[in-house]
Amino acid sequence: MLDNTVVENLIIIGSGPAGYAAAVYAVRDELNPILFRGFQPGGQLMLTSAVENYPGFVSIQGPELMENMRKHVESLKCRILDEDVSAVDLNSYPYKITAGGTEYETRSIIIASGASAKWLGLENEKRLIGKGVSGCAVCDGFFFKGKEVVVVGGGDSAMEDASYLANMVKSVTIIHRKSEFRASKTMQDRVLSDPKIKIIWDTVVEDVLGESRISGLKIRDLKTNKIKELKTEGLFIAIGHSPNTKLFEGKLDLDELGYIKTHDFTKTSKSGVFAAGDVQDRHYKQAVIAAGWGAMAAIDARDFLSKR
Ligand code: NDP
Repeated sequence: MLDNTVVENLIIIGSGPAGYAAAVYAVRDELNPILFRGFQPGGQLMLTSAVENYPGFVSIQGPELMENMRKHVESLKCRILDEDVSAVDLNSYPYKITAGGTEYETRSIIIASGASAKWLGLENEKRLIGKGVSGCAVCDGFFFKGKEVVVVGGGDSAMEDASYLANMVKSVTIIHRKSEFRASKTMQDRVLSDPKIKIIWDTVVEDVLGESRISGLKIRDLKTNKIKELKTEGLFIAIGHSPNTKLFEGKLDLDELGYIKTHDFTKTSKSGVFAAGDVQDRHYKQAVIAAGWGAMAAIDARDFLSKR
């Protein structure tokens, strides 16, 4: 290592609730971290509407909550860089991180890179993204005013998307592969009592129809195995998320779904590398829990650094 190389104490990757909470704790512990905001600054809450389960806020829009977190971290004079991390070298110590064409050396890392929406994996679904097929109701719902749309999924995301869309479109049909939702009761109740929302149970989407824009779906009833066509002007996919861990494949232990494996709370398979939030949490996936993980990771990073 050259004498003039600056070695950072801590680099935080990601700017969802986990990343920002980690930054608040790390700055207050005088670790002087750098936070890289990543490819989706603010994380998944930037794509959501009302958040009604974050303590302290009866109801707040997701982007506003994230803006508050960003301002909080900025007010602490944390270094926040708008770059996405493009490479990580965990083979030698200090670790190396490349972002925006610059290489940084660091004694510890908190990975809070979150998760991204999943797709059905159909060829025509991919072809028609932006032409009636969407993975984000809050971003695209506006373009479907007065139209008939379909939401696929049975979790809280699907409920949230359906309720949000019902406020502006003509009708929403939820297609779900089971005969019951896994979503929370409150969100299910909202959907089930909305006269603009219809449910098709035990059914999967086999194909997306349309040339320049979506015109309908080919759907299969799993109980009867019958295939039929359903006309629709929009398709919103809300079937869950995959962790953003591509950068760490072969470098850290990941589980079979790609989540970072942690032990003793936030520790990963590399000493000094911690993981927090949806990138390692395949069960809870809540903003408030991600924030908690972020705080834990910062405390674990502090303890690691103080022992060195
Ligand atoms: P979930 O994993 O909870 O649900 C995904 C849904 O999509 C399930 O119903 C699943 O079906 C279905 N699904 C998965 N893959 C396919 C497929 N290939 N084809 C058809 N259907 C499929 O994901 P969510 O994004 O809904 O929620 C993730 C987490 O985020 C949860 O913990 C949720 O509570 C939280 N969340 C909270 C919100 C809030 O509180 N405001 C809002 C949104 C999300 P099956 O049930 O058969 O497995």
